[in-house]
Amino acid sequence: MACIHHGDRHLNVEHGETVLDTLLRGGVAVPNSCRAGACQSCRLRASAGSPPASAQLGLKATQRERGYFLACLCRPDEDLTIALGEDLPIPATVVDVAPLSANVVRLRLGAALEYRAGQFVTLLRPDGLARSYSLASVPGEDAPLELHVRVLPNGRMSQWIALELTPGMSVQLRGPEGDCFYTASQPAQPLLLVGTGTGLAPLIGVARDALRQGHTGPITLLHGAVTAAGHYLVDVLEDMCQQYPNFDYLRCALHGDPAPGLEIGGIESVAAARFPKLAGHRVFICGDPERVQALRKQSFLRGARMNEIFADAFVTAPPPAAPGP
Ligand SMILES: Cc1cc2nc3c(=O)[nH]c(=O)nc-3n(C[C@H](O)[C@H](O)[C@H](O)COP(=O)(O)OP(=O)(O)OC[C@H]3O[C@@H](n4cnc5c(N)ncnc54)[C@H](O)[C@@H]3O)c2cc1C
Repeated sequence: MACIHHGDRHLNVEHGETVLDTLLRGGVAVPNSCRAGACQSCRLRASAGSPPASAQLGLKATQRERGYFLACLCRPDEDLTIALGEDLPIPATVVDVAPLSANVVRLRLGAALEYRAGQFVTLLRPDGLARSYSLASVPGEDAPLELHVRVLPNGRMSQWIALELTPGMSVQLRGPEGDCFYTASQPAQPLLLVGTGTGLAPLIGVARDALRQGHTGPITLLHGAVTAAGHYLVDVLEDMCQQYPNFDYLRCALHGDPAPGLEIGGIESVAAARFPKLAGHRVFICGDPERVQALRKQSFLRGARMNEIFADAFVTAPPPAAPGP
């Protein structure tokens, strides 16, 4: 049985447990959210012992070499000593919280963060609750960081953001993480940006960043929602179409009547009809995890190279454990 050494605590990993389970059981507050290796908010570093490769999936080679691992994926074969005081959070100040649609708010934060548009940060609530949000802002263009948060009916973090955060309040961030961002290596390459709901946040960031860096190839942003009411920042995106001849913006909705710029249908079928062939494209996909998985597979089967598909699935945390009897 492997043992986890955390300061003066020495905790045995019980059968079937991950390091995250073990530490939480032992009373160690580890930020965590999706518990599926997507949000990386439970990333830790082993200062002694080797985490299994399966706990380092999605980390950069430099991080793997330094012993970083994701506690939620880690079922260790040997004892691990957790490095303390790593990845200290970055302080941020709330600039404002404003509605973008009936169930999406824009949170703007002032923070000294180096990032790329489209990456994501993990927001930490003072009680340790952690959730990841993608960056819609573009460094160098927008001073505050901009996040688009879908407010879930009983969402612990999203309700807190929408109802309790006010200008001037302090929060903490970790990150940035993720490789869903634009690089200017091939300025004439066609780009397809496709996503649902608040998946628009990283996609609009990537599109603006690419245009700002002088991308000359066609850029198409396809935003899917359940109904047309779920499309937000429509005016901003339509203005971008007017300003940049190589930028195109399409909307699709599952239900409702078609209108100019709005198709009715599932996002996979609309994307497939518009882009039957994706050889040579760079594709960015964000939002609902099921749609991201389906669109990623579809993009590959239609010719996009796997290493030219960049995706962030907005995996939510498992529901809180029911109170005991
Ligand atoms: C890499 C990454 C990037 C992300 N980026 C964004 C982003 O830019 N914007 C954003 O809004 N979110 C984003 N998310 C999701 C975000 O991290 C949170 O999971 C989300 O805000 C919900 O957190 P919460 O605490 O409000 O809800 P929780 O209290 O965690 O509740 C979530 C629960 O709600 C349930 N649920 C899920 N969908 C619904 C629904 N439609 N109606 C009712 N219940 C539902 C799920 O079962 C889940 O258990 C991202 C996630 C990841 C991993």
